[in-house]
Amino acid sequence: MADYISEELINRISEEADIVEVIGEYLPLKKAGKNYKALCPFHEERTPSFVVSPEKQLFHCFGCGVGGNVFTFLMRWEKISFPEAVRMLAEKMGIPIPAQGNRKESLWKEELYGLNEEIALYFQQNLWKNKVARGYLKDRGFDEETLNVFRVGYAPSSEEFLKFCRKKGFSFERLRDLGLILPSKRGKGYYAYFRDRIIFPVFTPQGKVCGFGGRVLDSSLPKYLNSTQSPIFDKGKILYGLNFNKEEIRRKGEAILVEGYTDVLALYQAGIRNAVASLGTSLTHSQARLIRRYADAIFIAYDQDRAGVAATLRGIDLLLEVDLKVRIISLPEGADPADLLTEEKRELFIKKKDEALPYFDWRLNLEIPQGRTLEAEDKIRVIKALSPTLSKIKNEIKLRELIRKLAYRLDLDESLVGMELESFKKKGKFSLSELPKTGNEQEKMEEMLLRLMLSDTEIAKMVKERWSEDYFNNPSYKAVAQRVISLVEKGEMSFSALINQLREENLSSLVSSFSLSEDFFKGSDKKRIVLDLIEALYRNRGQRKIEELRRKIKEEEEEGKEEKVREYLDELIRLKKQILSYRS
Ligand SMILES: [Zn+2]
Repeated sequence: MADYISEELINRISEEADIVEVIGEYLPLKKAGKNYKALCPFHEERTPSFVVSPEKQLFHCFGCGVGGNVFTFLMRWEKISFPEAVRMLAEKMGIPIPAQGNRKESLWKEELYGLNEEIALYFQQNLWKNKVARGYLKDRGFDEETLNVFRVGYAPSSEEFLKFCRKKGFSFERLRDLGLILPSKRGKGYYAYFRDRIIFPVFTPQGKVCGFGGRVLDSSLPKYLNSTQSPIFDKGKILYGLNFNKEEIRRKGEAILVEGYTDVLALYQAGIRNAVASLGTSLTHSQARLIRRYADAIFIAYDQDRAGVAATLRGIDLLLEVDLKVRIISLPEGADPADLLTEEKRELFIKKKDEALPYFDWRLNLEIPQGRTLEAEDKIRVIKALSPTLSKIKNEIKLRELIRKLAYRLDLDESLVGMELESFKKKGKFSLSELPKTGNEQEKMEEMLLRLMLSDTEIAKMVKERWSEDYFNNPSYKAVAQRVISLVEKGEMSFSALINQLREENLSSLVSSFSLSEDFFKGSDKKRIVLDLIEALYRNRGQRKIEELRRKIKEEEEEGKEEKVREYLDELIRLKKQILSYRS
């Protein structure tokens, strides 16, 4: 939990701010009808699909699907959290935010960051006292400036570290919270987690020290050690180097994903300042999403040994899922970006990056060995291997193109490859196309009803009068609809307030998309449509209940519980009558 700001105050701030004015400070907005338009700052485009509505106080990009209210915009643009966006806007508007609630926790976190900062400084100073460590880094080719920028340090022996902490009067409890010390196995006292290691402080995107990574100088194991999970450190959510390279990544729209700390340092020193590393080899979904916030293309530059290829394969699907363009840099075997510190190698890297293959071609090369004729079994194996990745492609045109490519390489008919892929989808994971037809119709109706509720507050009020949450099956639609109804009940329905309650990105863009898209129902009798939809959803809900009752009756009959059976039968008849007599 971040610091607490009351819902009421949050709504007041977003209502007093004018979204057109706030976004207008960042982008040139042009009036278009009752809305404003601009080129979207979150994806590359030539014709504006970024819409700002003064009436609804929302924005939405119909190109990339990003949308929300004034806070969502600030979060995206400034790369800040929701509470930070609220504070930022409040400050701008001169609205004071009273201190209260969960401040304790935020103070505690601040204390942890403060402590990390002091420890980082201490490690840094230690590096200059340690000839061996400094010699090692010098031999690897790192210059003083790079080491200073990244605040590389050295962790001394456990004894020395504890002595320093005692002298400074640091709280051992807090050091434990940070995973910097561990209770001694022999019962009494503590020992240091990082001992005799070169230290790379790990930073939040805003540049605060949230954890550390340590590398040994000799061949002892583990070679690398990361801070353990702490209240301010979650290695699956952090990208090393992002705080230093985020501006360049945003400017170029592309990032280079490397394996480790030294790769990021080496590229930085070589003037390539858009690299980030995941801590540990497996990329996580959170990290993929974090990259997506800054870039729309990513180059993977992992070592091309077996482990590196496996890591690349795992990473690709995650990166495709967040809609990044993925390319693979094939470095000569044994070479990794950390060895780039000569002019010659730097040029080689840049050349390899220019030659980077789109992920699909890279995979094809991996699966189809050059110059071998493929047997039928080989072809089936290749299709099978590529199906999980292909099934992640949402864009139909793109998918067709990849299928064409695959068919060409396998010397097969396109339709055959397409059919194989379809059958994978069916047998493989659960897919939407498998839902029974009625399920799809149900979802379409839910979507229509929600669109109508979001297009007009009067309609939301009408739905409230006849409301049942059982109308909705789709969990996202249901969550949004429930919030709309509860805001209408309180008489506080506004789109901006709604988004303040839906902090999840996908829900807020759902709201902005539905409420700002072209009016589907223009010219038609919206109220009539709503009543028809509610009636149909009501009947569907009743139908689901009837089926449930029938199942129960059968069960009880088998058990011979006549009384229960009669009870359920009565209910069944009542329900059927209800459905028949329903008039919305
Ligand atoms: Zn966009």
